[in-house]
Amino acid sequence: MLNFDLEQEDWMLEGECANTDSDIFFPVGSSMKAMKKVNAAKLICAECPVINECLDYAIRTNQDSGIWGGTTEDERKSIRRHYRKTGLVVNH
Ligand code: SF4
Repeated sequence: MLNFDLEQEDWMLEGECANTDSDIFFPVGSSMKAMKKVNAAKLICAECPVINECLDYAIRTNQDSGIWGGTTEDERKSIRRHYRKTGLVVNH
């Protein structure tokens, strides 16, 4: 999956991105090229059997860059705001 220092969790080995170029999951900027990477990553996530675990992990651990669980950074910020407003726990 992702090649940087993360606490490994079992579900990570089952991710659709495990054997994919991780570059598309970390697009930089908002250029057309970056947006194409976002869309390509989201399509992979949509087929992923661990999408819920991945999104939960990204929210719990405040992953603030890249595509996780089919969401962008901004989408996860919005989810966190919603969780805070509704009193749901974000960090364990
Ligand atoms: S949801 Fe996306 S980023 Fe998460 S493990 Fe699956 S393919 Fe990878």
